Amino acid sequence: MLRMKGFTTKVLHTRYPKKDVHGALRPPLYDSVAFEFENASAIQQAFEGKLPAHTYSRISNPTVEDFETKMRALCDARGVIAVSSGMAAITNVMLALCSAGSNIVSSRHLFGNTVSLFEKTLGDWGLEVRYADMNNPGSIESMIDEHTRAVYLESITNPQLEVADIAMVSRCAEKAGVPLVLDGTLTTPYLFRSRDYNVAVEVISTTKYISGGATGVGGVIIDNGLFDWSASAKISPFIDRYGPFAFLAKLRREVFRNCGSCMAPHHAWMNTLGLETLALRIRQSCDNAREIARFLAEQPKVKAVNYPGLPESGSHAIAAAQFKKGYGGLLAFELENKDQCFRFIDSLGIIRNATNLNDNKSLIIHPASTIFGEYSDEERHGMDISDNMLRLSVGIEDREDLLDDLQKGLENI
Ligand code: PLP
Repeated sequence: MLRMKGFTTKVLHTRYPKKDVHGALRPPLYDSVAFEFENASAIQQAFEGKLPAHTYSRISNPTVEDFETKMRALCDARGVIAVSSGMAAITNVMLALCSAGSNIVSSRHLFGNTVSLFEKTLGDWGLEVRYADMNNPGSIESMIDEHTRAVYLESITNPQLEVADIAMVSRCAEKAGVPLVLDGTLTTPYLFRSRDYNVAVEVISTTKYISGGATGVGGVIIDNGLFDWSASAKISPFIDRYGPFAFLAKLRREVFRNCGSCMAPHHAWMNTLGLETLALRIRQSCDNAREIARFLAEQPKVKAVNYPGLPESGSHAIAAAQFKKGYGGLLAFELENKDQCFRFIDSLGIIRNATNLNDNKSLIIHPASTIFGEYSDEERHGMDISDNMLRLSVGIEDREDLLDDLQKGLENI
């Protein structure tokens, strides 16, 4: 066993589960759907889970397994399942934990499509979402009852950039015997190790930082191995057969398998490559974001800047305590009104107008008219999405070029 402490060392040297026949240092991409067996008895054993072998790539695949193995090592988790998108990760977890009549306790500060998934798609199947103030334990606890199947929050909320005291939220969930599910997309295991904060399950959109530069849509579900699944109505029947792997088995052998939300081997291969440079890229993006937040905060035309790395941010103290290596690459700021926001976007050259975040390239968007465009003014107000707000995802470009571009944008509004 190699002794590995560092994040990037672990990515580079966590071995592929099987030795390559040619000794290839970069494991090959197994773009194969099906896998052949020596005889009928062997494939039966594989189907029964008695022989650890890949049968069909909707359920598992060697290249995807390689990526899952590296993610597991980074998170020190019980297991990881790679899925087709960040939304697929959230959906699979909710389908595994909840049924009609269940509720989840969450925050009004969530990614727009997650709100839509909870309220509309899963709402139609009988899920209720209860919104608590994630900074107030009394508010969280008062929402939990015998039908609560999860507490759900984002490590840094997108785009409100709010950071909750995750250890406090996890204590509230633990007291009630409910798993805490955390969307760690904006932090990744490099900035935040959810296991250390007693998070039961983490979901991440790998589309963002992990893919290495927006190379493919994907997600992961991480079971940290801390939650006693006998407390979960839908997972407990799997305990007799799968013990501590009950949640992962419920997914792999039922929900995830049946939904068909598998990660493509090509994306898994790109994600593994992305992991190798993740620490380097996040450091550059966080450093750039901090400097840009400071720059914007000094500009008279900018009405407000929201970045957890700024001492003025209401989330700064808790973010500093939880995120030791940086505050992420996402920030939001306000101009006078929507017209100014549009003029600003339209006069940028290097910073692109696109709906993604944590790409290598810096991206800007006006959330109210795009990601949150399907909501009424009142609903947006409730989610703290204002019409004069811009979201900037800071990439890894040379900082001076980004500052020049922003300066140009401000001159043109
Ligand atoms: N969670 C957060 C915080 C996000 O920002 C996003 C997408 O922007 C998602 C989940 C969904 O990820 P994907 O686009 O990979 O489905």
